Amino acid sequence: MLVLLAGDEMNTDGLDWWTQYSRYLQSPRWKLTRAVRLALSFHLCAFWWKFWRGKCSGPLQCHHKRYTHVGHEFPFHLFDLQVLCKTHHKDVKK
Ligand SMILES: [Zn+2]
Repeated sequence: MLVLLAGDEMNTDGLDWWTQYSRYLQSPRWKLTRAVRLALSFHLCAFWWKFWRGKCSGPLQCHHKRYTHVGHEFPFHLFDLQVLCKTHHKDVKK
């Protein structure tokens, strides 16, 4: 699953997938992808109706629903990502 090798800005030779993934999450490419995805969700958690009941907390995060297109989610696979607050991100990972 070394799809991250498609990333331009990284020299990823010989690194395991999770190391590549955590590097990718620091990259300008990911920052752009994340910013666009957050904008598409109007900066609201996917469980936005719970927000009104005070159930959302923490900064918004982009959850990978699938890892097939990691490294090149932008622009065609942005909905592989789900915008979640920290609390609900923890819930979906369970
Ligand atoms: Zn939430």
